[in-house]
Amino acid sequence: MLELQRITKRFGDYTAVDDLSFKVPPGQIFGLLGANGAGKTTTFRMLLGLLRPNEGTITWKGEAIPLSKIGYLPEERGLYPKIRVDEQLVFLAELRGMRRKDAKASLDEWLDFFQIPQYKTMRVEQLSKGNQQKIQFISSVLHKPDLLILDEPFSGLDPVNVEQLKGAVRHLSSSGTTIVFSSHRMDHVEELCEYLAILDKGRPVVAGYLPDIKDSYGKANVLLTTDADASEWQHLPGILSVSQEAEGYKLQVASKGDADAILRQLVTSGARVERFMWEQLSLNDIFIEEVGKHYEP
Ligand code: ATP
Repeated sequence: MLELQRITKRFGDYTAVDDLSFKVPPGQIFGLLGANGAGKTTTFRMLLGLLRPNEGTITWKGEAIPLSKIGYLPEERGLYPKIRVDEQLVFLAELRGMRRKDAKASLDEWLDFFQIPQYKTMRVEQLSKGNQQKIQFISSVLHKPDLLILDEPFSGLDPVNVEQLKGAVRHLSSSGTTIVFSSHRMDHVEELCEYLAILDKGRPVVAGYLPDIKDSYGKANVLLTTDADASEWQHLPGILSVSQEAEGYKLQVASKGDADAILRQLVTSGARVERFMWEQLSLNDIFIEEVGKHYEP
């Protein structure tokens, strides 16, 4: 179990992380979200021991995190461009305490997983940006870490590579690796994580188990396709906002009961309702609501 207890990090007068607590059980994938500058990378640097919190404690299975057990994919990628993939990855794994033979075997497995065995003996500079990123991901997992920290792992990848990387993350999680990752892509987080925290200016504004977080918002969305003009129904009680979408309208409603009443009203008024679909708020809706309140670019 990874546990952060009341972590605060200040740079001079500026508080970059403010009283942050969360726990990640073994094998879980935890999403750390927040606008630019919210404190995600600072949190990761504290997890790695590169920065020391001013207050609070970080423990792994109740103790300080041993560095050899951590894998880290930094936001700014940092492989040596002139050195061959196999030479630098095996070297880095050896630095983390792995035997050369095991590092080579692990590298072959991961290159096969990503279907890129042909890059093994190439220099990093000869690879595309996306493939360099896959190589850097492999470098962060080669030594089989128990805790894997991924800072924006999907940025810059094409959709096929995003899916491959998601597959790798799920595979590691199912074999017991605990994973903490940051992303600005709410759909990726929603797909991969059950637990998450949203930071706003260093402060956690939402944290916990995603289904519980969603349940705690009474509000919901309704996807509506109807022949009735919006002016006829958009002022009905319980409708908080209306936006036009490709296949009709998306309404934010105050409660499920309001949604039922809106449907009854539409049908009673003789409108043809082709689609009336109730859905919980998406993570994107929650993020915009929580972070958008006091957003300053
Ligand atoms: P992004 O999504 O843009 O990567 P982030 O959530 O990772 O952002 P951080 O990099 O953790 O944000 O930065 C949080 C805040 O702390 C920012 O305002 C940043 O300028 C500030 N900060 C980070 N490192 C330092 C430092 N070494 N000295 C002073 N301020 C810093």
